[in-house]
Formats: sequence, structure tokens, C-alpha cells
Amino acid sequence: MTLRLDHYINGKYERPAAEEYFESYNPATLELLYEAARGDKDDVEKAVDAASMAFKSASWKNLSATQRGHLLRRLGDLVVQHADELAMLESQDNGKLLREMKGQLQTLPEYLYYYAGLADKVQGAVVPSSNIAIVNFTEREPLGVVGAITPWNSPLTLTVSKLAPALAAGNTLVIKPSEYTSRTVLRLAELATEAGFPQGVINVVTGYGAEAGAALVESRELAKISFTGSTQTGSRIASQTAARFVGSTLELGGKSPNIVFEDANIHNASMGVVAGIFAAAGQTCIAGSRVFAHRSVYEELVDKVSERAQTIKIGNPLEETTELGPLAFQDQLEKVESYVNIGREEGATVVTGGTRPDTELPGYFFSPTVLTDVNNDMKVVREEIFGPVAAIMPFDTEEEVLALANDTEYGLAAGVWTQNLARAHRMAKKLEAGTIWVNTYRAMSPMSPRQGFKSSGVGIEHGIESMYEYTRLKSIWINT
Ligand code: NAD
Repeated sequence: MTLRLDHYINGKYERPAAEEYFESYNPATLELLYEAARGDKDDVEKAVDAASMAFKSASWKNLSATQRGHLLRRLGDLVVQHADELAMLESQDNGKLLREMKGQLQTLPEYLYYYAGLADKVQGAVVPSSNIAIVNFTEREPLGVVGAITPWNSPLTLTVSKLAPALAAGNTLVIKPSEYTSRTVLRLAELATEAGFPQGVINVVTGYGAEAGAALVESRELAKISFTGSTQTGSRIASQTAARFVGSTLELGGKSPNIVFEDANIHNASMGVVAGIFAAAGQTCIAGSRVFAHRSVYEELVDKVSERAQTIKIGNPLEETTELGPLAFQDQLEKVESYVNIGREEGATVVTGGTRPDTELPGYFFSPTVLTDVNNDMKVVREEIFGPVAAIMPFDTEEEVLALANDTEYGLAAGVWTQNLARAHRMAKKLEAGTIWVNTYRAMSPMSPRQGFKSSGVGIEHGIESMYEYTRLKSIWINT
């Protein structure tokens, strides 16, 4: 019998009001994994009410910041204990390599421990006053009910990046995971109850974006939306929330440049380019999908990246030796395939890949693909493909590559490969992106704040800065 997953509201599983469910499949094997509750407005209102009651309840409001930290720490410990189970569930849900998920599960508790430690360190300030009779100080308060909407490519990590600072600051949560990956976020909510979080502090409503997601954004009780997903959905949410003066943090799409200068260690750079675009089958917001190589090393880089792409082992994400799993669902596969075809029509050369490979499993696999004869005017270079497709272009000067790299609506991340320190600093200053990596790519930590520039986002995630996103500032004046 198929596993049925309900919403998680008020510390327990709740059947959907309309009794409707939708199916979720393993993208590698195409097996039916489970049915999840198809949330609607009624379900969302129930979850928001629960979160609102919990926010006002003594069992949450009267906890000290240190006690909230203890709860987060206990949740971190439970994630450590259940790491193998969570890694397996998420790998089955979105096709990510089990090996990579195990690595993610090692860093996931660090997010919980980091914000556990910060919970009692968010403080106001005493403000200098020109009148000695007046004491003016500031306090940081939680906002209330936070709505967290997350995508399918990294459900646990992206949820915990919101949950940990929001709870550390004293808010309560309603989470709407992607309709493609409901499983691990529900399991995380169960573990939070086991850790001792009072009922209603963490609620999960599953379902489609246009239904459960839209209902959450429209909910009257909401103090803030923290969204990670496409720029298109983010833009829609931003206009809906702005009209009601509801705050939002938006982590959106990207089309990040990865720039290789002639003085770089070309072997390391080519491996950085490969990891930047082919990790998680290119389904990462920070994917280094636009590769710029100095003309003097261009051929060598194209050869090295293409040779490595051809040896990448595609297959079952659960096997230790597999290097590339499937795309997460059929539309995603078709989208990637159609972009490669558009590239061909625009004049691109497919150096390697560009097809569905022969695999033992029937899932949504696509070969690592390298495109050349491309330029900044082409769709494949301008639009986010969100798949294993690298476009490699030559350049001649630093000024030229800066202009090309910045000529995009996105500004999430950028990579630079050079051994010239002065150049590294110049590039880091002038690239219009929230994260710059020099001689590395994809490095990330809960301690390091990150922000998308331009159409890649609004607001900050990670670091102490992210805690402030979940507080409001009160200025208090007392005439003594
Ligand atoms: P998406 O925008 O389609 O969906 C994201 C979430 O929003 C899902 O839970 C979905 O159900 C929900 N949603 C969809 N329509 C909605 C609506 N009208 N109202 C409310 N919620 C709605 O994105 P996706 O395809 O799930 O994720 C891929 C995108 O996420 C890519 O663009 C990627 O770059 C981006 N992303 C960004 C970051 C980052 O840190 N900047 C991280 C991961 C993914």
C-alpha cells in the first residue's frame, strides 16, 4: 500500500480538509514513493492559526533565548542521529547522490548549532542621548508567524537555513516545501517535536505552489515570507507581500559566471568548473553555468572540462561510485533538453553531452553537456537552465570579461581562477554578485552571510545577519 503523508500541524499529522493527495515519484527509478496531502486555503489557515496561537502561548513566548537555543541544539543532535535516514529519504525524493546527501547531513546540524549559539546573543543597544534625563535603547523582537517556502533541489538545507534563525529569534513557522519533495521536511518537523519544541511552533503544509503556496503568501496572519525558488515566483510573491507591507526574504535564481584567467592553475580551474556546473546535475542556484576562459587557455579548458564530463559516471544516486544522478522530475528534464536544442538552433556547438544517456534505470537522466560557439546574446547563456549544461566562452582582457560577466539580470555568485592576488581583489570588488569565490567554487557555511544581487534576491541568509531578518527593532525612550 502506498505511503500517505499528511500535513504536520500543531505537533501532529493532520489530514487535508479536502481529503486530496498527490503522488511523488523517485526520479531515478520512477517508482511511486508516497502520496502527500494536497494543501489548500483551509489547511494553510489551520496551520497559520496553530503557528499564531503558539507564538502567543506561554510555552513558547516565556522561553528564554537560551532555552530556545537548547531546543535547536537538541534538534541538531536528532538530525545527527537520523542523518543516514534523512540522507536516504532526500536522495530518493529528488535524485541527489546519496554520497552528497551524507555530506550535506554532516553540515546540516552545524546550521542548527550555529543559530542555537546565537539565540541569546541578539541584543539591542543603548543609544547616546543629548538629554541626560532620557535613556534611549533598542530591542530586537521576533516578528510572529513566518511563512517559509522552499524548492526541491535542497529541501532540508534550504528549510533549516530559514527555520534555525527564525526559531532562534523567537518566531513560529509554517513551511510549504516543494510539491516534488515533501518527505524530509515533514520528518524534520517530527524530529522538532521530539526535540521538545512546543506544538504549533513548526507546521508543514504540503501541496502545490499555486494552491498551498499562494494561500500561505495571502494569509492575513503572516508577519514575513522567507522564500527560496525561481525569480519568476519570487517576483510574484514580492509584489503580493509588498502591497500588504509584509516583509520578505527572497533567494532566487542565478546564471553565475566562472572565470578562468591565463595565470590560473588550469587543472584546478577545470575541476572547479566541472564541480560548479555538474554537481547535483546542475540543479543548484549557484551553478557556474557561464564559463569564461582567457583565449590563451580556452582550448585547453574546453578539452579538460569535456574530457572529464565524458567520464562522469551517470547512474543510480544510491551507489557510492555514481557521480551524476537524474534531474528531479520530467518537466525539468524536458526543459533542459529544450534549452540544449535552442542552443543548437542559435548556433552553439555541443562538444559533449546534449542527450539522454543510456542508463540501467529509467529515470530523468541527462548527460553532462558542454556548449561552445556561444555568446552573451543567446538564450542558453542568458537564462537559467538549472541542469548540467556549461556554456564556455573565450575572452581577451580583464575589462572585457568583467563587462560580460556582469551583463546579466542575475547576481547570485561568481568564480574567479587566477594566481594574481591583485587581480583577484579587483575582480571580487567589481563583480556584481553576492558571493565571490576565488580559486574555489561552492564553498558555503552557516556563519557566512549570503545575498543575491539584482534579480537573484532580496535580503540575507546565513550568518548573524540572517537573525536580524527575523526580528524587528523597537526604540524605547524613558524619561527618568
Ligand atoms: P519555484 O519558484 O517553481 O518553486 C519554489 C517554491 O515556491 C515551491 O515550493 C513551489 O511550490 C512554490 N510556489 C510556486 N508558485 C507559487 C506561488 N504562486 N505562490 C507561492 N508559492 C509558490 O522554484 P523551483 O523550481 O522549486 O526551484 C528552482 C529555483 O530555485 C531555481 O530558480 C533556483 O535558482 C532557485 N534556488 C535559489 C536558491 C538561492 O539560494 N538563491 C537556492 C535554491 C534554489
